[in-house]
Amino acid sequence: MKTREVHIVGNWKMNQTLHEISNFFIEMTKMKMELKCKAWIAPQSLHIPILKEIAFTTGAIQVGAQNCSNHDSGAFTGEVSPAALADMGVEFVIIGHSERRTIFGEDNKLLNEKVLAVLKHNLKVIYCVGETLEERESNDTFKVIEEQLKVGLQNVPADKAHLVLIAYEPVWAIGTGKVASAEQAEEVHAFIRGKLTQNSEQTIILYGGSVKPDNIDSLLRKENIDGALVGGASLKAQDFKQLCSASNHL
Ligand code: PEP
Repeated sequence: MKTREVHIVGNWKMNQTLHEISNFFIEMTKMKMELKCKAWIAPQSLHIPILKEIAFTTGAIQVGAQNCSNHDSGAFTGEVSPAALADMGVEFVIIGHSERRTIFGEDNKLLNEKVLAVLKHNLKVIYCVGETLEERESNDTFKVIEEQLKVGLQNVPADKAHLVLIAYEPVWAIGTGKVASAEQAEEVHAFIRGKLTQNSEQTIILYGGSVKPDNIDSLLRKENIDGALVGGASLKAQDFKQLCSASNHL
């Protein structure tokens, strides 16, 4: 029996048309199942209002964003404001996904500003950490993650610490089909929990990296793995529902 509530978070990245979104929820509704976990989805920002409407009618999911600016407003063409996200009623924002770190060059210091900007509006933040293959092979995994946590979470106010979730996503496992073994993941999750300076026992720590219906069970059985951040498999209603129902028999 898990003491922390299992969270399954779909990161749809830059995918899904309106037609596909509609089909996704038609499929989800057809597969009637009582879910014991929290099911969250982060669509493209443009689609947030549509998902919010669906969430309002079905009550089944919570909706979040994949990224946001470190500023609330101003001359930042193309950016998404955390204040506007709060206004739209999103429940959470993913910050520091490895694609933001590598493709868009976001560093720990900028990510810390984003974390604080999200928390200012009392939204939940999923702060992502994880090592590259090169860092793992040179035994730098723990050093890299410690730094990502130390800088990325600095100055989080004590009364907002309960809004912070962590996602451990080894970069070498994202979208590659190479999932970390449950033991490899648990080792890092336990390390992360040990490094958290606030709310450590209650903090939800998600694993991400090629999670699929056939490998989620062994991950969720680990003490410090409280759910998953899922890319590819969250796009298919059947897979997403299966991932969400995995926690039913824990
Ligand atoms: C992700 O994008 O956060 C992710 C884990 O992707 P995938 O599940 O496709 O590896």
